[in-house]
Amino acid sequence: MSEAPAEILAAARAAGRTLLSEVESKALLASAGISVTEARLATSADEAASLAAEIGFPVVLKVASTEVAHKSDAGGVIVGVADADAARAGYERILADVGRAEPNASIDGVSVQRQAEPGTEVIVGTTSDPQFGPVVMFGLGGVFVEVLKDVAFRLVPLEQRDAAQMVREIRGLPVLEGVRGQPGADLDALERLLLAVSAFVQAHPEIAELDLNPVFAYPAGHPDGGAVAVDARVVLGEAVTA
Ligand code: ADP
Ligand code: MG
Repeated sequence: MSEAPAEILAAARAAGRTLLSEVESKALLASAGISVTEARLATSADEAASLAAEIGFPVVLKVASTEVAHKSDAGGVIVGVADADAARAGYERILADVGRAEPNASIDGVSVQRQAEPGTEVIVGTTSDPQFGPVVMFGLGGVFVEVLKDVAFRLVPLEQRDAAQMVREIRGLPVLEGVRGQPGADLDALERLLLAVSAFVQAHPEIAELDLNPVFAYPAGHPDGGAVAVDARVVLGEAVTA
């Protein structure tokens, strides 16, 4: 069911949307070679169960709506869904809980995706500076970015050296390097991710904002590769078209 990037962007435009869904955002990113947990849309409890069985348990279920900005705050994320019955029940629970939390949001269904192994949570994003154009951001997830504002920024296009500096200049670097006997994250893989994101927004000037939050970063040699984005959000600019 993978759509080509041009079709995804055109469909959003035709619907008058600037915000792409998680399903659309991840399909776009995957087509650019960026590692994501691909999200597939279910529009019934039975479909959630059959998609989950195809993907393989455990899966993660999430509300699919471009009108719910913080899915987990609205009761829209269930991790550790272990079997088909739990997928069916989870589908109904998400619709009920999000319906209560955000009664005015229109809901497209529930997305189903594989559950990634835990890793060090980092965030990668882009914004567009009115004067300088697109900028890539990198930081550790959670309180590091929200409270400590511990983030690194560079202008697009990133060079190898920019990416190498970004992952190493945050104050939280020791967390990435591994604490208390935990193996460190594969910093080379994070550099490659930053370069891929830079190339992606450079190739798509119509993208105003990109948020990969969180990305799970893994030690070198991990079977999932160096890093995988488990949540993604693309925002298109108002005027420019591809
Ligand atoms: P939101 O940011 O809209 O609340 P997320 O998609 O980021 O929702 O999900 C919330 C949290 O659930 C993530 O920060 C992550 O810890 C966990 N999570 C989400 N998707 C996955 C996944 N595919 N595998 C493992 N954990 C996940
Ligand atoms: Mg998120």
